[in-house]
Amino acid sequence: MNKPLILVVEDDGTVRNLITTTLKSNEYRYITASDGESAIAAASTQQPDIVLLDLGLPDIDGVEVIKRIRCWSQMPIIVISARSEDADKIAALDAGADDYLTKPFSVAELLARLRVTQRRLTALESKTGESIFHNGSLTIDYGAGCAYLDGNALKLTPTEYKLLCLLAKDVGKVLTHTYLTDKIWGSCWESDMASLRVHMATLRKKLEKDPDTQYIQTHIGIGYRMLKL
Ligand code: CA
Repeated sequence: MNKPLILVVEDDGTVRNLITTTLKSNEYRYITASDGESAIAAASTQQPDIVLLDLGLPDIDGVEVIKRIRCWSQMPIIVISARSEDADKIAALDAGADDYLTKPFSVAELLARLRVTQRRLTALESKTGESIFHNGSLTIDYGAGCAYLDGNALKLTPTEYKLLCLLAKDVGKVLTHTYLTDKIWGSCWESDMASLRVHMATLRKKLEKDPDTQYIQTHIGIGYRMLKL
């Protein structure tokens, strides 16, 4: 497999250098952009494997960059931003970002996020067209509409099954509360958020009987992600 090509979008030269130095010494290839418009242009002409995107850019906002790229591409986008408010994270994730890293970040953390995103890419590529999903001891047979744990059928309610499928479809990616309630109930009222928490809790109880195996990770105030085991 070729070395992955990373598009680094960052207007701060010091941070950009830190990131590109890290990428270089860890066998990644990279290209850079220092504003939103050139980032969008580079994304379309160079087709990078992953985009590392700063939100505070001199021309257009990073969230706008995500929305514009998402019009034509599902390439993974990891946001790296000094904005640490949940609302900013949610806006970026809702626009279609795959992950979020808050500045200041450690080099080790950046590399870990890149690895997770690459694994997710590989998983996506291998599951294209498949009607059976595997992750650890979990199996979902989409055709039969059933999920199994260690080969035993899980007794799930229709809502729990839907939730499980949504998380599995985007395994490794954080899905926001709004995204999930909208997919399940077509709305995102406060009451839907409360229902989501209840259904997620009952789903996890059935799925995570073994306390050492965690399938679903909670991101407080933001959403949930299924971990790739
Ligand atoms: Ca910036």
